[in-house]
Amino acid sequence: MKEDSYPLEPDAAGMREMAGSVLESLIDFVEGLEDAPSTGAAVPPALLEALSRPPPEEPGHFGDLLAMMRTAADASYETAAGSYLAYIPGGGIFSAALAEFFAAVTNRYTGKATFAPPLVAMESAVLRWMCDLFEFPVGSQGVLTTGGSMSNLIALTAARTQLAEGQVDRATVYVGEHAHASLAKAARIAGVQRQHVRTVASTDDLRLDVDHLRELLREDRRAGLIPVAVCAASGTTNTGTIDPLVEVGEVAREEGVWYHIDGAYGGFFQLTERGHERLEGITSADSIALDPHKALFLPYGTGALVVRSADALRATFSESADYLQDLGERADLPDFDALTPELTRDFRGLRLWLPLHLHGVDAFRRQLDEKLDLAVMVYDRLSANPLLEVRWRPDLSIVPFRLAHASEPAQKELLQRINQSGRVLLSSTRLAGDFFLRVAVLSARTHEERIRELFEIIEEAARAIAD
Ligand SMILES: *Cc1c(COP(=O)(O)O)cnc(C)c1O
Repeated sequence: MKEDSYPLEPDAAGMREMAGSVLESLIDFVEGLEDAPSTGAAVPPALLEALSRPPPEEPGHFGDLLAMMRTAADASYETAAGSYLAYIPGGGIFSAALAEFFAAVTNRYTGKATFAPPLVAMESAVLRWMCDLFEFPVGSQGVLTTGGSMSNLIALTAARTQLAEGQVDRATVYVGEHAHASLAKAARIAGVQRQHVRTVASTDDLRLDVDHLRELLREDRRAGLIPVAVCAASGTTNTGTIDPLVEVGEVAREEGVWYHIDGAYGGFFQLTERGHERLEGITSADSIALDPHKALFLPYGTGALVVRSADALRATFSESADYLQDLGERADLPDFDALTPELTRDFRGLRLWLPLHLHGVDAFRRQLDEKLDLAVMVYDRLSANPLLEVRWRPDLSIVPFRLAHASEPAQKELLQRINQSGRVLLSSTRLAGDFFLRVAVLSARTHEERIRELFEIIEEAARAIAD
C-alpha cells in the first residue's frame, strides 16, 4: 500500500489486506502463547518513548503500526497464557474477540431496545440465562458491565436508593475482612461515609464471621445508623474462600437489608456440580456481581450483575430526556440505559452470546471443572512437601502456600525465583498476618501439563532456598 492509501473508508481489497495482516499477527500470537515468557518480553528501551509520541498529521504505515502494537503487547505480563496463575486469571477466548469485532463494525446501538430489538433480545437472553442459573424469580434482571467493580458499584448504589435515599449520611455497608477493595470503593462512591463502611472480621478459616456481623449491625442500629447492604463473597480474591452464604443471607433477611454477593471471581462455578453444592445460599442474594472476563474466559471489559428486582435498578438509574422522546419502550425487552449508569455503550451482549452458542454451556462447565481438579492437585502436591506450608484446602481454584518456618524475605525470594522461571507467574498476599504466595488457576489455557511444570519450579526454588 502507498502511504496515502489509508482512507477512513477502505475498499474491499483494503479491508481484506488490513484485516488479513491483523489476523496473521494474532494467530502467531496465540500459537506463541505456550512458549511466551510469563513476565513478558523485555521492554525495549526506546519503546515507551516511541509509543508516547503524539499522533502525526500524515498517515502512517499499517504494517509498521501493527508491528508496534505487537511489540507493545508482547512486552507485558503474559495474561493470556496458561502460565498466568497470578491475581485472578481470565482468558480472552478467540470466539469472543470475533464477536467484539463484529459488534464494532456493525456498530449497533443497544442502549435502548427499540433501536435494535433482535440484538437486545440476544443480550437479554444471555442475562436471563444468568438469572436462571441463580434461580432468580420473574422480575429479576441482569445487566452487562465493564467488570466486577462496576457491577459492585451498581448493586450498592441500588441498595442505597432502596434503603437510605435522602439519608445517606447515616447509611452503613458491611464487607468482610477479605472482601475485594472494589466494594468499599463502591460504597463510598454511592455516598456512604468511609467510617460507615464496616469491616467484618473473619473466622480462622478465612470466612466472614457471622457473629461479628450481627454484633456490628446491632451496634449501628443502636447508634441510629441505617444498615443498607451486607456483602459476602462467593469466593474471595485472596484465597477463593466462600463465605457462609446461607447464614449471611439469614442475617440480611432478619435485618431487612440488601444482600449482595460478590461473585466476580467465583460466581460462575455455580455451573459445576461441586460449585453448585459449595455455593449453597447464593440463590438468596438480592444481587450477585459476576465477571465473565474471569470465569467465562472472555476478554477484559465484560462484567455482569444479576439483581432480584429490576425495579430496584430502575428506581436508581432511570431518567427521561426530551431528546429521546421519539423512542417508545417495549414491553418485551429491557432498555439497558434505564438499568445502569450508561447510555451509549458497546454491544457487549455478542461477546457472551456467540461463545455460549458456539461452544455450548457444557464447554464452560468442563473448563471450570478442570480448574477445580487442578487446584486439588496443587493442594495435594504442595501440602505433601515438608518444605512448604499449605494452611487451607481450596473451596474453588486458589491455593495459598508459603515456605514452612521461613522469614518473610525468604518468602519473597521464593516468589521471585518462581517468577524468574518465565514459565509461570504467581502473586502474593497477606493472610492472618503472614506473607503467602498463591496459585490461582482460572485461565482457559491452563492445563495439567503446566501445573506439573509449576510443581517442578516451586520444588526446585524451595530446595534452593533451604540449602
Ligand atoms: C476481580 C474481582 C473484583 C473486581 O472486578 P474487576 O473486573 O477487576 O473490576 C471484585 N470482586 C472480586 C471477588 C474479584 O475477584
